Amino acid sequence: MIKLYNTLSGKVEPFKPLTEGEVKLYTCGPTVYHYAHIGNLRAYIFEDLLKRFLMFMGYGVTHVMNITDVDDKTIRDAKAEGLTLEEFTKKYSAAFFEDIETLRMIKADFYPRATEHIPDMVKIIKGLLEKGYAYRKDGSVYFNISKFPNYGRLSKMDLDQLEPGQRIEADEYEKESAQDFALWKDKKEGEPFWETEIGAGRPGWHIECSAMSSKYLGQTFDIHCGGVDNIFPHHENEIAQSEAYSGKKFVNYWLHCHHLIVDGEKMSKSKGNQYTLRELLEKNIEPAVLRFLLIATHYRKMLNFTFEALHQAQASLQRTKDFLYELENRSFKKQENKDVPLFIEETKKKFIEGLSDDLNISVSLTALFEMIKKVNILINQDKIGKEDAAKLISFIYSLDEVLAILPPREEKTLASEIMKKIEEREKARAEKNYELADKIREELLKQGIVLEDTKDGIRWKIRKS
Ligand SMILES: [Zn+2]
Repeated sequence: MIKLYNTLSGKVEPFKPLTEGEVKLYTCGPTVYHYAHIGNLRAYIFEDLLKRFLMFMGYGVTHVMNITDVDDKTIRDAKAEGLTLEEFTKKYSAAFFEDIETLRMIKADFYPRATEHIPDMVKIIKGLLEKGYAYRKDGSVYFNISKFPNYGRLSKMDLDQLEPGQRIEADEYEKESAQDFALWKDKKEGEPFWETEIGAGRPGWHIECSAMSSKYLGQTFDIHCGGVDNIFPHHENEIAQSEAYSGKKFVNYWLHCHHLIVDGEKMSKSKGNQYTLRELLEKNIEPAVLRFLLIATHYRKMLNFTFEALHQAQASLQRTKDFLYELENRSFKKQENKDVPLFIEETKKKFIEGLSDDLNISVSLTALFEMIKKVNILINQDKIGKEDAAKLISFIYSLDEVLAILPPREEKTLASEIMKKIEEREKARAEKNYELADKIREELLKQGIVLEDTKDGIRWKIRKS
């Protein structure tokens, strides 16, 4: 049983999807006006961990992530750079897709773009006007929050503070200024606009997610994720618009990931501590190390990013890689060790228990490292059999379906093919068939694989050309 903390109820709840075995997941995507920084990436990686774990547990996941390519910020910055909105947002959405791949996040099934879904938004706004939840003012359309009794439930805000009839036009604002918010903004000089049934103008940011989530996932779906910054006003407003329009519950589970700070301080451009993935790659940080660091802290805790923590993450990752290397490259004896299947079983159980408990990854990682420690002792005592090693390798790789921190499988398939060749060569040498042994070595060399005799046996490496 998987349990998740639901921001809406403020409790850890058992997870039950609407359809057994299937999860419909919406995660707020990037507003493509800059390169994603590590704070943004933390949220996306937490969502990827959630998704991978659900898949590991046998769920089919339909994942939608929107691309906000029209809002206050994209318009402001496109203007500043002297580009059209399209030229400007294209650049940053391409960068976003590169980052996702670099950090090995599983791609969403749909990446709807706001500018391609204007009619869907207009349809909802029209419906809200007809139902009396929205009203027009100076060419714009606002949502009347006093008409929606559940307003404030997600962010646990005090509704007595509200001043009915006050309006806010900006996409982002503080809780203190909770007011009727813009669904549709009147056409302005120098801003992109669409001619529609409800007038000429452009959508507010919040309506974008309501329209695109329901289009691909239905009016009620299972999980909606984002960063804690999204709770108010973005997600609060999404609930109000969606539920007022459909008359149905919008989302069953709301999951939010906490902030990331750098060296104990809030990230900000002016402090120069707002790193992007690109900047870290330039500093020779391995993507897998960054990914490991970002998943290793529980998503509801503040994550303090430091270069020291990156080094520690690197050391932990290296321990896992070294372990695999040993398993793949040592020559083990025939006889199996009956403890190994027990270790695997126990580790798998703890790994699943940890993540099932609201993604408590520390428990899962501890289980993995404990196992590595125990097996390393056995390896050093020469108490591991060939079959044990093979089982351990495939087990570690099965866990990596969730973690995604080890070198990709294709390289590993290569590794196992090479190992087979090495074994053939060893056998040939043992049989004094040096001709065959040399032939195998030559074959490998042609593939760029160099063999080395070490005291631990034969090792191989890829020749750097
Ligand atoms: Zn959103």
